[in-house]
Amino acid sequence: MIKHWIAACALTLTQPALIAQTAHADTLVDNIRGETIAAGGSVQAFIALMFDDNGVITAVYHTGERLPRQGKKGYQYRIDGKGHVLLPGMIDAHAHVIDTGFALLRLDLTDTASLDEALARIAAYARAHPDRPWIVGGGWNQERWHLGRFPTAAELDRAVPDRPVWLDRVDGHAGWANSAALKLAGVTAATPTPDGGAIDRLPDGRPAGVLVDHATALMDRVVPTPTPRDLDLALATAEADFAKMGITAVADMGTSINEWLAYRRAGDANRLYIRIMAYALGTEAMATIGGTGPTPWLYADRLHMGGVKLFLDGALGSRGAWLKAAYADQPASHGTPLLTETQLGNLMSRAAMDHYQVAVHAIGDQANATLLTTIDDLGHTYRGERRWRIEHAQIVDPADWPLVATIAAKGGLIASMQPVHQTSDRVMAEARLGPDRLRGAYAWASLKRQGAVLAFGSDTPVERPDPWTGIAAALSRQDKTGAPAGGWQPQERVDRPTALAAYTTNAAWAGFAETRFGRIAPGQRADFILIDTDPMTATPDAIRHTKVFQTWVGGGKTWDADAPAGEAKDKPERPL
Ligand SMILES: [Zn+2]
Repeated sequence: MIKHWIAACALTLTQPALIAQTAHADTLVDNIRGETIAAGGSVQAFIALMFDDNGVITAVYHTGERLPRQGKKGYQYRIDGKGHVLLPGMIDAHAHVIDTGFALLRLDLTDTASLDEALARIAAYARAHPDRPWIVGGGWNQERWHLGRFPTAAELDRAVPDRPVWLDRVDGHAGWANSAALKLAGVTAATPTPDGGAIDRLPDGRPAGVLVDHATALMDRVVPTPTPRDLDLALATAEADFAKMGITAVADMGTSINEWLAYRRAGDANRLYIRIMAYALGTEAMATIGGTGPTPWLYADRLHMGGVKLFLDGALGSRGAWLKAAYADQPASHGTPLLTETQLGNLMSRAAMDHYQVAVHAIGDQANATLLTTIDDLGHTYRGERRWRIEHAQIVDPADWPLVATIAAKGGLIASMQPVHQTSDRVMAEARLGPDRLRGAYAWASLKRQGAVLAFGSDTPVERPDPWTGIAAALSRQDKTGAPAGGWQPQERVDRPTALAAYTTNAAWAGFAETRFGRIAPGQRADFILIDTDPMTATPDAIRHTKVFQTWVGGGKTWDADAPAGEAKDKPERPL
C-alpha cells in the first residue's frame, strides 16, 4: 500500500476533495528499466528512484548501486515496476486544455452515415444529458449522408423537441438549429439575410434550420457560453485524457481568464492532476491574470502563468498562413497577417517589459521571417535569456535560418513544433507550397542545428495529445501506414534522445520549469510513467503502440491501466 487514493468521478465535481495526510515516508520505485535525459542531453539509464512525501525525488539509483532497505532509514513504501520501462512524465508543449475536454464531451456526428443515424445519436445524447439546457455539438455533413439538401429544424425537432439544439457543420461554416433554438435566436421569416451569410428557408420564407457563414452569428448571440461547471468538467475530462497517454504537464497555449479561473478552482480544491504552464490569450488576459509579471508557481508547481500567446497568422489548410510568395494552389493569395509588424512589436514589448515570456503562433514563411526580425529587434532592449517561443514554426525559409542561430545564441529560441502535423498535413502542404518551399517545412533537424530548442506537442484538440504518435513521427517522418516510404524530407528526422528531450526536458525548459520537473533526478518532482516500450530501441511503429501502465504526478497516481473495474480507471484519482 503506497498511499491511500480513491478514484474521483469526473462528473461528481461537487464533492469536496480531501487533502493528503500521510505519515512522512519515502517511497521506492524499483524493478524498472529507467531512462531520463541527463544534464548534457544524453540518455541516462537507472534502476530505481526514491521520492518523499512531498512528491519530490530524493535519490536515483544506477546499475551496481545498492538499493535502500525497507525501514526507518530506508523506504516505507515500494512500487514494483514489474520490469517495465520508466520515463519522466511526458510534457505536451502546445496544448489547449479546456478545448480538449470540450472536444471529448460534445456531441460528435463526424462518423454518422445517414440523417437517421445522426438523429438517433442526437436523441440518445440528449437523453443522457437531461441537465443540459442546450444541446451543442457538430461534425455533420449532408454530403456524407447522401441527402442532397440541408437537414431541417423539423427533423431535428423529432430528436429533441423540448430544448434548443445547435450543431456545427463539419467545416464550421454552417450550423443546424432546431425550432426551439431558432425561436430563442429570434430568427423568423422576417429576418433579413445577413451580408456574407445565408438562411436556408422554406417555400413560405420561414427559416428551414440551417444558417450559413455570417448568419451563424444570429445563433452565437444566444448559445450560452460555458459555465464554471462546464469548464470544470472539461478540465477534468482533459486531465483524464492526458493522464492515460502518459502526459504529466502541458503548456496551455492561449489561456482565457475563465479557463485560468477553472485551473485555480481545481488547484484550490486539490484537484489539479496535471501541471499547467499557462500562456495567457493576449496581453489583456495576461495583465489581468498576472498583473505586473508572471504568477508564482502555485499548488506545488502545478500551475503557473509565465507568458502570453499571440497570433501572427492563420493555418496552411485554410490558406491563412502568411507566405512570402503566393500559394501554389491559389496564385492570388499570400495568406493574411493577423497583426502588422508594428502591432506585433508593441504587443511583444508590452509583455517582455514585465518579464513575461512571449509565444507567437507563426506558420507561414513570411510570418516566421517577420517574427524573427521582430525578436531580433526587441533583443536589443530586452536582454538576457528570454526564451522566445515560436509556436508551430511550420515553414521557415532556409534564408532565415541564420537569424534563428543569432537569436538562439542571444536570448534563447524555442521551436515549439508538433511532429504529427507533418504526417497529417504533408499532402496538403505540398499542394499549398509547391516543391520549392518544402525544404523549410517542418524542418526540425535544421532548426535544432541552428541552436533552436525543440519542444514537441500536439496542439490538441487539433490532433490527439498522443506523445507516442508524436515520437514515432519525429523519428520516421512517416504516418501510421508507413507512408511515404523512407520518410518525407527525411533529412529533417530527429534522433531518439532529441525526440525524448523535446517531450521532457526541453518542453520543461521551454516553460522555465527545468528546475522543477522534466527529468528523473533528485530535487525534481516525481512525475513519471511506466510503459511497455523502450523509445530508445523500439521501431517507430512499436513506439506508436506504446501501452501506458501508470502515470504519476508529484508522487500521486493519475492513471492505472490495471485499476479494477468500477475504480474508474480512465478518471483521475485524488489523494485521500
Ligand atoms: Zn494551438
